Amino acid sequence: MKNSILKIVLLCTFLILFSCEKEKPKPKPKVKPSIAGVILSFDDAYVNAWFDTDQELKKYSWKGTFFVSKINTLKHYQIQKLLQLQKEGHEIAGHGLHHYNAADFTRVHTINEYMDQEINPMLKLMSFYGLKVSSFAYPYGGRTKKLDAALLKKFKIIRGRAFCEEVANKQGCYYNNSNLVFSFSIDDTHNHFNIPHLLQLLDYAKKNNKILILNSHKTVKNVTADYQTKNATLELICQYIKRNNMKFYTLSDLNKLK
Ligand SMILES: [Zn+2]
Repeated sequence: MKNSILKIVLLCTFLILFSCEKEKPKPKPKVKPSIAGVILSFDDAYVNAWFDTDQELKKYSWKGTFFVSKINTLKHYQIQKLLQLQKEGHEIAGHGLHHYNAADFTRVHTINEYMDQEINPMLKLMSFYGLKVSSFAYPYGGRTKKLDAALLKKFKIIRGRAFCEEVANKQGCYYNNSNLVFSFSIDDTHNHFNIPHLLQLLDYAKKNNKILILNSHKTVKNVTADYQTKNATLELICQYIKRNNMKFYTLSDLNKLK
């Protein structure tokens, strides 16, 4: 009797194990998640204009990356605005203490001198203010490979400027898994900027699952000078992103995709 019970128990165990083995889910083919989106970045020290633009674009749950230069010249209330932007999920990043053209500067000075004058004091002051800086953009896009190497010891990701190709897929302004990226300027008086071209760049990002990297300077209602981007242009980009289920990224978000 005992023996037959034992046999039944063993048989059941075998059947359970066998059936479990059979029910193991087959590995699904890997589908790459959609990452298509846009980085909106802003350079220099137009804190008041940026803060006002944020009030208008909040309704899109947008995200910007603000590359701040001359942090030592900002007023206390402007630092408070930067802290508020950071708190809302925007990124505050570095753009040089004096806004030197790094490539020009290092033609006559060493890289160590550049770091001592332009980068280290900027990082120290921004950290003192509570700004968490991990990205950097070159003023005027002026860079060299040696500077890239030195700056990537201080920052997780650095941004240069893409100088223009007419055809979207030849543009260097899409994220390409590198920690050195390039942006396309959407300033209104930039030679290569116009709305149809911008839409072409956005379409290419959407169709090819890419992240488009854009930059501007002062955000304005009406353009009165160079280095200004219309709020209407930013609004158009935000609407495109929402309509096409694309994403807003900050520059440091790119590190999380690796
Ligand atoms: Zn600049």
